[in-house]
Amino acid sequence: MNPTDHAVEFVNELIASSDAEPHLLLQHLIRIQQEFSCIPATASATLSQHLDTPLAVVNGVIDFYTFLHTSPRGEYDILFSDNITDRMAGSQLLIKQLCNRLGVEPGAGAGTGNTSVDATSCTGMCDQGPGMLINGMTITQLDEQRIEQIAELVEQNRPVDEWPQDFFAVSENIRRTDLLLNARIQAGEALNSMLASGSCKTLESIDAAGLRGRGGAGFKTALKWSLCQNTQADERYVVCNADEGEPGTFKDRVLLQSRAEELLEGMTLCAGIIGARKGFIYLRGEYLYLLDHLNSSIEARRANGLLGKSITGQSNFDFEVEIHLGAGAYICGEESSLIESLEGKRGIPRIRPPFPVMQGYLGKPTVVNNVETFIAAAQITVHGSDWFRTRGTTESSGTKLLSISGDCRLPGIYEYPFGVTIREILKDCGADNTQAVQVAGAAGHMIPVDEFDRSIAYEDIATGGSFMVFNRERDLLAVTQNFSRFFVHESCGFCTPCRVGGALLDKLVYKLQRGRASRYDLEEMRTIATLMRDTSHCGLGTTAPNPVLDLLDKFPYTYENRLIDDYGPAFDLEAATKDAREISGRHDNGIITERQP
Ligand code: SF4
Repeated sequence: MNPTDHAVEFVNELIASSDAEPHLLLQHLIRIQQEFSCIPATASATLSQHLDTPLAVVNGVIDFYTFLHTSPRGEYDILFSDNITDRMAGSQLLIKQLCNRLGVEPGAGAGTGNTSVDATSCTGMCDQGPGMLINGMTITQLDEQRIEQIAELVEQNRPVDEWPQDFFAVSENIRRTDLLLNARIQAGEALNSMLASGSCKTLESIDAAGLRGRGGAGFKTALKWSLCQNTQADERYVVCNADEGEPGTFKDRVLLQSRAEELLEGMTLCAGIIGARKGFIYLRGEYLYLLDHLNSSIEARRANGLLGKSITGQSNFDFEVEIHLGAGAYICGEESSLIESLEGKRGIPRIRPPFPVMQGYLGKPTVVNNVETFIAAAQITVHGSDWFRTRGTTESSGTKLLSISGDCRLPGIYEYPFGVTIREILKDCGADNTQAVQVAGAAGHMIPVDEFDRSIAYEDIATGGSFMVFNRERDLLAVTQNFSRFFVHESCGFCTPCRVGGALLDKLVYKLQRGRASRYDLEEMRTIATLMRDTSHCGLGTTAPNPVLDLLDKFPYTYENRLIDDYGPAFDLEAATKDAREISGRHDNGIITERQP
């Protein structure tokens, strides 16, 4: 069969085995990408007809998501994780090593070869990096030896599913447990408790516990659920945001692996309270390796009468959960973008209000919470609000899971009661000689030494869980550059302050790092950063300048001695013309030098 016919037939079979609903567009595209290592034009056209969706829309979606391509990737499609912690662990040298070994140009696609090598945003393996994805599957703990083994396997043309299984091992690295990780609930226990006491009492209990969203924003969970419950509608939805894309965050990865049952219990509990019959887990594409495990957990609950029709024997309690994959777009962690993506569209954040609890998925009231929040809600329902309030502070009850990485001896997952100080955490994870800690990922804040007595809590330093440690050997300008580059890559491009401001900031950070910036440039950085913060459309744009503002305000020693005076040339003529001079064999003074043959 020729490739064109194959693509058409594949799409026909895909549609025949599922639905021809437009909101499945992204999921169908992901399947096509997996099959062909790109989206062939004939597949897009066929899909467009089946879904009755304009081809321009289909192409727009392909263009939006980093993991979708219109030209073929390699048979071995390798993406190195490019978080700052991967770089600190030597990922840049490993990329070079692999590319040199295989004769591949990084970022060049497959070309005529069988391998493509590129970089992608944080893959959520910072505690065991450097990491990479190969054909979507995670490989951790890369070093020179493992890279050499990978090169040999590629040269031998060995299929990835025949590679050594230890390459794909992902450790849990749970280093400290507390309330949430120490407690276990039985399948159905929270649902039985809710059915026994009623949804009102259950909601009151979650409210009394003071549970707030664990994604970092801290919206009260009970209030969110009751707003959704009280919005008139014929359908409501429950969505689990398992798209933890914030650089340096990986604690949901561990919960999805080891607590999937409790996550589904929490989602079903929410469905029972708000009256939803359908739920989704939006799983980040980087966690593809968890897909089978999660589907098995769903199947097991269905078999036990805890999902599907008449849950726990209640004739009016039906609830199904479906997993949708993301495709490499950080912005889809924002709840309205996530909903757009669930509907198969580009993940452009919506204008709010209306909020998702009123008009969410397909315009219906929708609760979106993250993995940790659903698990905490299920546990509170079983163990009670007083149990939950035994930890934390008045405003921040309970505990928080942190993903700790960077310059420390014991990276991994740590569960702490809210109110724990940065200093205590650094002591526990074996961090010495610490210069700064980035809390809450690239969008969060860089905390200097004199603020290490501040605490993790909504009333002080709020976080979704990322905690990256930098010792005194690190160049914080390089860290800031990594974050500013990340935001340029991840901006959805919808609004000007973020799209243009982010790129300008990135250029100025680069200039500063290269020792070509003056005090005027610092003022420019502050003006642009403030403008972005105050006028961007969504949280990505309002938080993207944080690393630059922190650098300017709290770490002047990192750039003071790199500044040029205000009247010095900001443009490096020598560097800018170096390549051209070498090619033409000319020096700047016009003397023609010996040309290369
Ligand atoms: Fe998109 Fe950035 Fe604007 Fe958010 S702030 S809508 S990510 S361009």
